[in-house]
Amino acid sequence: MAAILTCLVKTFQWIPVLFINAVIIWSYYAYVVILCFESVQSVYERAVYLMFYHPFFVMLMISYWRTICTSSGFVPSQFFLSRADREALDNGDPKEVLEKVSRKLPVMTKTLSGAARYCDVCQAIKPDRCHHCSMCRKCILKMDHHCPWVNNCVGFTNYKFFLLFLFYAILYTLYVTGTVTKYFVAFWNNTLEGDGKLHILFLFFVALMFFISLWSLFGYHLYLTGNNKTTLESFRVPHFYYGPDKNGFSLGSVMKNAEQVLGLNRWYWFLPVYTSIGDGVRFPIINQPEEDSLLNAQHRWLEEGELDGHEDQQYENKEDSSANSLDVSTAELVNENEVETQMPNRARPDVVAVQEYEEVKDGTSTL
Ligand SMILES: [Zn+2]
Ligand SMILES: [Zn+2]
Repeated sequence: MAAILTCLVKTFQWIPVLFINAVIIWSYYAYVVILCFESVQSVYERAVYLMFYHPFFVMLMISYWRTICTSSGFVPSQFFLSRADREALDNGDPKEVLEKVSRKLPVMTKTLSGAARYCDVCQAIKPDRCHHCSMCRKCILKMDHHCPWVNNCVGFTNYKFFLLFLFYAILYTLYVTGTVTKYFVAFWNNTLEGDGKLHILFLFFVALMFFISLWSLFGYHLYLTGNNKTTLESFRVPHFYYGPDKNGFSLGSVMKNAEQVLGLNRWYWFLPVYTSIGDGVRFPIINQPEEDSLLNAQHRWLEEGELDGHEDQQYENKEDSSANSLDVSTAELVNENEVETQMPNRARPDVVAVQEYEEVKDGTSTL
């Protein structure tokens, strides 16, 4: 019975997607067949309309379906509690156990109370910016929100496609509204020829309505992208080990923040291909207070008590660091040289994150 119910719920969740697709396909029929082939008299005008219409339509559909079909990704296995950890969690102090496990992971954020972020359902430590989605029933990397219109979570893996979907939907509706206006006016003046007059009337209103309503959503997501925030983070300030920081993930400039989502090569920014930077688990941090960072690093290092024998693990040297664009982080790494030489990478998520960023800039990332 429960299985049938789950199946029904999953089927109903596709209704909004079917609705949006039906509207887009109907708009194609109304524009191409009714407007261009039945109402537009000039062959030249028809050719121009169709030539510019189709790129918008194709890009809109690809972006939309890539947002729907892209897997929301998986939390890496090391974030899941081992059997021994789960037993310790059941029998010991949960906060202490989770804290111990999370120290080995590249996590910078905590709960409001300062405890490790843990998902009870998945039985895993949540990576930074990861949240559990009750609709998808799993933890989503860099979760932005669950979108019923794509029946998928919008997160690290498909955020670029979602942005492009909004972008091309705006261009599409603007283009349709602009080219249909002349025929919409002709409809009111009773000078429009053909049988599909109502299609043109509705096409104008639907395109205009979507154009106006999508602008506010797109504008909001442009703001989020420029500030390196997610929708969830804009509502709830992330808590780092050094305290709450609403701009904690920002890299200091709109362009650098945009590159995290759209990629380093600007030729690909407007193409629905995956170019986002990183692995969805580690994020470069430049805003941490230097003093706090040093104290916290020392504190964590002393608490860890597992550093003997790791002295040979060195971070990037000054020469390598000076070439990168994360100037603040690099400066911090150099200033903290004394501590760094004794700390293993896994105990320093900020360093891991910066190294990861460097790898991606060098084109060595695997994602
Ligand atoms: Zn979860
Ligand atoms: Zn979801």
